[in-house]
Amino acid sequence: MVREFRQFDKQFDTNCQVRGTKTALITILKNTISQKYCQYHTILAPIIRNTIKGYKTVRQEKIMIQVTGYAANQAKATLTPYSFQRREPRDCDIVIDIKYCGICHTDIHQVNDEWGGSVFPMVPGHEIVGIVSQVGKQVTRYKIGDRVGVGCFVDSCRNCTPCRKGLEQYCVKGMTTTYNGVERDGKTPTQGGYSNKIVVDENYVLKIPDNLPLDSAAPLLCAGITLYSPLKHWQAGPGKKVAIIGLGGLGHMGVKIAHALGAEVTVLSHSLKKLEDGKKMGADNFYATSDPETFEKLKGYFDLIISTVSTDFDLNQFLNLLTLDGTMVQVGLPEKETHVGFVSLISTRRSLAGSLIGGIPETQEMLNFCSKNNIASDIETIQIQKVDEAYKRILNSDVRYRFVIDMKSLVTQKQ
Ligand code: NAP
Ligand code: ZN
Ligand code: ZN
Repeated sequence: MVREFRQFDKQFDTNCQVRGTKTALITILKNTISQKYCQYHTILAPIIRNTIKGYKTVRQEKIMIQVTGYAANQAKATLTPYSFQRREPRDCDIVIDIKYCGICHTDIHQVNDEWGGSVFPMVPGHEIVGIVSQVGKQVTRYKIGDRVGVGCFVDSCRNCTPCRKGLEQYCVKGMTTTYNGVERDGKTPTQGGYSNKIVVDENYVLKIPDNLPLDSAAPLLCAGITLYSPLKHWQAGPGKKVAIIGLGGLGHMGVKIAHALGAEVTVLSHSLKKLEDGKKMGADNFYATSDPETFEKLKGYFDLIISTVSTDFDLNQFLNLLTLDGTMVQVGLPEKETHVGFVSLISTRRSLAGSLIGGIPETQEMLNFCSKNNIASDIETIQIQKVDEAYKRILNSDVRYRFVIDMKSLVTQKQ
């Protein structure tokens, strides 16, 4: 019996964080032993084991992270308040108190299940910024109080060639997306940043430079890196003529970053409504794609075109705007596939490419670049209760230029 009791005590020391509970439990056990079973070791042993097991369950329930947020309960549904739990922080995890989360058009595609395979309830959001509130035992990069961000993924296999190169977004086993995905255990659903807390392995967390305001830095975690990565990969810089199609969340970050890289930047927008804004962001030229003259005038002009358009459009007319060896990179992901005419590719050795967000090292590089060049997103801050209204405005191209949810608005909400 003494051996069992020691074992019980040792396990408690390993697992117990609530000292008061331990003392109370020991008192109960001692009373039980003295009153009833002290001479029956075989009876006592399973009681102790079960008590430990039961206590561990209670303890686990107690220290799971309780979270509130907004979720879509089915495809195309209005987002409503939702409470859920995040995992107990592991040794390499940090807990982040989310302060702001940007609204990406991808959130809308996925809530509406436009790409297929969406899982509900879904808490969207992958432009997350906040403050570290807890760190695991082995965390070395962050401490409580640090300003941090989380982008579109929270894990990956860490072993494949892309992962080893810091291109986790192209993980051959698939990255673990921040929401609408599953953890590496293959079963736990991931939930995103329209919520007050998130638990993430420190290796998938970014440092937000001190001079960037947290709210307007949030969109850098997706919109910023999604444009920075192809601009760097296709070497936008002095002497290069770059066009950005669509001046929305991604597009406006593309204009600012391409300008800071030293390229000549042209915006190709539906209309001329956003011309003044585009120029302020650093655009050298601004054209309306509703005007057929645009396509005549700019034929063969650009070295690099990046399309951020989120709906079906005829990309072939844009291919004709590329010069010899020019590249068009598609980052917008409309619901339907589009037809590509090969003639314009072949006739001038043009390339058509795609690009997906960016890896962790490049995302940190982009944040540092933005810090150095004082680049942040142009934002409209909203309360979480206004998310559906924001979605409607994004679909009408009525966003100037990224909605960012202020997570303080969750506090006052009724569950
Ligand atoms: P957004 O803020 O809605 O911007 C899209 C812009 O495209 C609009 O502001 C509009 O600009 C233009 N546009 C919309 N409908 C159009 C139409 N019918 N014809 C021509 N232009 C149109 O969206 P976002 O958040 O920037 O995201 C854009 C797309 O990129 C989405 O499909 C999203 O899922 C995708 N995305 C991809 C990645 C990636 O890694 N590849 C990452 C994030 C997002 P104008 O008014 O100036 O024409
Ligand atoms: Zn996004
Ligand atoms: Zn991998």
